[in-house]
Amino acid sequence: MANTHTYDIVIVGGGSAGIAAAASLRKRNARLSIAIIEPATKHYYQPAWTLVGAGEFDITKTERNMADCIPKNVTWLQAAATTFEPEQNLVNTDILGAIHYQYLIVACGLKIDWLAIKGLYETLGKNGVTSNYRFDLAPYTWQLVQNLKTGVAIFTQPPMPIKCAGAPQKALYLSCYHWEQEGLLANIRTEFHNAGGVLFGVKEYVAPLMEYITRYHAHLSFNSTLVEVDGPNKKAWFDVKDEQGNVTRIEKSFDMLHVVPPQCAPDFIKQSALANSGGWVDVNQTTLQHNQFSNIFSLGDVCSSPNAKTAAAARKQAVIVAENLLAHSAKQEMTTLYNGYGSCPLTVEKGKIILAEFGFDGKLLPTLPWDSTIPRKSNWLLKKYGLPWIYWNCMLKGREWLARCKNT
Ligand SMILES: Cc1cc2nc3c(=O)[nH]c(=O)nc-3n(C[C@H](O)[C@H](O)[C@H](O)COP(=O)(O)OP(=O)(O)OC[C@H]3O[C@@H](n4cnc5c(N)ncnc54)[C@H](O)[C@@H]3O)c2cc1C
Repeated sequence: MANTHTYDIVIVGGGSAGIAAAASLRKRNARLSIAIIEPATKHYYQPAWTLVGAGEFDITKTERNMADCIPKNVTWLQAAATTFEPEQNLVNTDILGAIHYQYLIVACGLKIDWLAIKGLYETLGKNGVTSNYRFDLAPYTWQLVQNLKTGVAIFTQPPMPIKCAGAPQKALYLSCYHWEQEGLLANIRTEFHNAGGVLFGVKEYVAPLMEYITRYHAHLSFNSTLVEVDGPNKKAWFDVKDEQGNVTRIEKSFDMLHVVPPQCAPDFIKQSALANSGGWVDVNQTTLQHNQFSNIFSLGDVCSSPNAKTAAAARKQAVIVAENLLAHSAKQEMTTLYNGYGSCPLTVEKGKIILAEFGFDGKLLPTLPWDSTIPRKSNWLLKKYGLPWIYWNCMLKGREWLARCKNT
């Protein structure tokens, strides 16, 4: 009896990367049978949540029905992938059994570990504790920013890697800008506690960002990791590491706390044969083909490629995966190579953005031939109006405008 769950290509995850890859494949070959395994009924445009947290974007416009995002003639299998059997070319799911494939694309994003910080989960959305990393909490960030007139506002960043590494400090800049415009900045002490040792991983952007840190009188604490929160008593604890590696736990009081929790690969990926030692899907960073299983590819936040985990990266990666998968299936050489492009629009003030675009090893890869370290109004307009439109109408539809890496 024929197996009803057999496809040429199975994609695990219907987020930014999975849908973009499906659309790019469908565009290149309409005859392929493609299925997306995805349990969620909603699809999110997460990059706008930073703007939602600053009252600059309507949260409802960041959410669409998954059914409306799955490309035409692609089958949506509404289930969660649970385990992989790569030698058998199958994925097991929670409610639909085994799904067989010729090629597998893994694009299930990463896990935000809300439970890794003691006391955090139960106080999110109340007691002044928020995070732009969740759909339902980003509007609460804006509520807190508007209501705070005096006191202490703390913003945190966990150890790398995280999705959109600039997002923790974007929340700081936009909040400070609001307080500055309201004449409240002198009454509010702002602190940025970063588990890492630098403000931003690409050195060219550090100096212009520091100008805003100075302008907003923000206090920087590097190597300072949030470990515990007591919401009702408005206290937070940080482990601070000194140059000798000694760790001291310090207590802080806050009136507003914007938290970005640690992030890692989803458990079912970590525990699978597809993972590298760090838990991520183990791919060749230029072809995005799995290092061990040649009929498996991966893109988006879950893959091991050391690029900035962004939707901007997934947009370029979708082209790489579509072309290399089809080349491999036609027994041709894979010639479309990923240069590590990722982008982080750093919202340093309302109306201006430093558009950081860079590839592997922090190599600057600006789309336009001007100095990308300068904050620009045009970048703000791109982020607020242009990129959401490009996301819904191009990236998720297989229209690959400016989506090819420059070296391909
Ligand atoms: C606050 C914030 C700000 C950001 N700012 C920017 C920005 O300015 N620019 C930018 O480019 N990017 C930004 N990003 C990052 C960007 O949103 C992500 O990098 C991008 O969404 C990654 O796409 P993905 O498909 O890998 O993961 P996701 O879009 O998260 O999708 C993963 C999908 O996999 C599904 N899934 C999970 N488990 C399973 C399973 N077991 N089986 C099947 N499916 C599963 C999920 O339901 C989900 O639909 C930001 C993100 C946040 C949170």
